[in-house]
Amino acid sequence: MARIVMKFGGTSVADIGRIENAARRVQREVEAGHEVAVVVSAMAGVTNQLVGYVQETSKIYDAREYDAIVASGEQVTAGLMALRLQEMGISARSWLGWQIPIRTNEVHGKARIEDIDGSEIVRRFGEGQVAVVAGFQGVSPNNRIATLGRGGSDTSAVAVAAALKADRCDIYTDVDGVYTTDPRIVPKARKIEKISHEEMLEMASLGAKVLQTRSVEIAMNHGVRLQVLSSFEDKPGTLVVDEEEIVEQQVVSGIAYSRDEAKITLVKVADKPGVAANIFGPLTDASINVDMIVQSVSPDGERTDMTFTVARTDLDRAVQVLKSNHDKIGYESLLSDGDVVKISVIGVGMRSHAGVAQTMFRTLAEKGINIQVISTSEIKISTLVAEEYAELAMRALHTAYGLDAA
Ligand code: ADP
Ligand code: ASP
Ligand code: MG
Repeated sequence: MARIVMKFGGTSVADIGRIENAARRVQREVEAGHEVAVVVSAMAGVTNQLVGYVQETSKIYDAREYDAIVASGEQVTAGLMALRLQEMGISARSWLGWQIPIRTNEVHGKARIEDIDGSEIVRRFGEGQVAVVAGFQGVSPNNRIATLGRGGSDTSAVAVAAALKADRCDIYTDVDGVYTTDPRIVPKARKIEKISHEEMLEMASLGAKVLQTRSVEIAMNHGVRLQVLSSFEDKPGTLVVDEEEIVEQQVVSGIAYSRDEAKITLVKVADKPGVAANIFGPLTDASINVDMIVQSVSPDGERTDMTFTVARTDLDRAVQVLKSNHDKIGYESLLSDGDVVKISVIGVGMRSHAGVAQTMFRTLAEKGINIQVISTSEIKISTLVAEEYAELAMRALHTAYGLDAA
């Protein structure tokens, strides 16, 4: 007998028929004698619709009310899944974040889970009951509903698995595993049998939304056996494992992209000590994260251009902050561009292989794609390009790194 957490994403519970399909998978595990906690997302499209209602009602909204609204999608699915299981003769009960409770910090809209009390769920396992947990939500220190950021049901599932000391956490989704890149953009993408935590973390944080970044972090830190697989087909999925478990290491194992980027250039800022602090200080104070940064060489030694990226959702606010600090920073003009995409190649093999960046630059050059900003770390290289070239760039890079499926 094993203890299993099974998570079903939005497409996998998109309508009553799909919920029934997911419930049948749960039934199989229950009949095999396992203890099962199911974590569900909102039905496909529901969270987007709820976010839309919030934005239509209030432009700069109260994050606590945002959470009260967007968390409701998962409540519906949890109830429906529990009902469906009951119809199949399986004892099941739904659980909202506050009922377990899943305690989070106070950062509404992107809260972090701090603690989960799994004792009542475990007690009911003893009575043969399946727990159906609403993903994406918890309860904040002020006793209000908090959500975990988009894609947060993955994190709910892994955190519940850690709290219940589950033998594994299975993430059922609309693709049959983690691919070398998004298979919807690059048809030649290849399924990865095993991926290291580190690479999966980079892939997720650089835009591969198949797993939320935080879920990989929790799996790594708590030793949760994490697997991504299809809710529609019975096929082996992808295991997320420690680096040592990977026998044949590729130099580049994946390519990720993120459209959640926007570029800002401050033209002709003074080239003197303290300028960077004057620019980025006010942005930090406004909780706006800056990602990539380039400062061009100043031809006259006095003035230079500073280009950097922020999340696209923060662009308007960032421009506002920079304009209101114009006198303190001192720049000639401000340019902003939301039509950019960040493309990143990832691989732990980069630590020991030279020339990976050069392949990226050469490949993009051959396609006539201009690189606007570059940033690198130990196991990834990211470039910012115009959004219209996203698919072309991804496909060309996938081929250039020898990742195409045979
Ligand atoms: P769910 O609703 O099940 O949580 P998501 O839409 O959040 O599903 O994540 C699955 C999607 O992630 C896939 O449909 C795919 O388009 C996208 N994706 C992006 N990068 C990858 C990748 N490297 N491997 C697999 N899927 C990816
Ligand atoms: N429903 C939430 C979202 O769409 C959480 C999730 O599906 O993981 O972001
Ligand atoms: Mg998801």
